[in-house]
Amino acid sequence: MDCMFCKIIQNKIPAKRVYEDDSILAFEDVSPQAPVHILIIPKKHIPTSLEIEESDNELIGRMVQVANRIATDREVAGRGFRIVMNCNREAGQTVFHLHLHLLAGRAMHWPPG
Ligand code: 5GP
Ligand code: ZN
Repeated sequence: MDCMFCKIIQNKIPAKRVYEDDSILAFEDVSPQAPVHILIIPKKHIPTSLEIEESDNELIGRMVQVANRIATDREVAGRGFRIVMNCNREAGQTVFHLHLHLLAGRAMHWPPG
């Protein structure tokens, strides 16, 4: 399968890994939009949030917990951080392997652009 993030999981493309377990990988975004910009992905290939199944619910919850833990470790949890999941093109999704963006380290705007 020609998926960039599956290749990162398989170590075919290098990435700065910050967390890994049996089902989840987190790594630095190659084009950071904030001082902290980390992607949290399931090792299972799920194209978009629309393909999340009931059997994935625990996995998705654990992805959020990984984001919380990284935010705490980077000492941005108290200041604030943003977790973003873009779905399909108009929302800005460019890689069709489910991912959470963890963004922190600067003031965030609302509404988002
Ligand atoms: P999306 O726009 O799909 O929500 O987010 C995709 C993110 O993946 C972007 O922020 C982009 O910078 C990042 N990205 C794309 N290709 C690579 C890559 O090969 N390595 C890493 N580390 N990040 C990538
Ligand atoms: Zn994939």
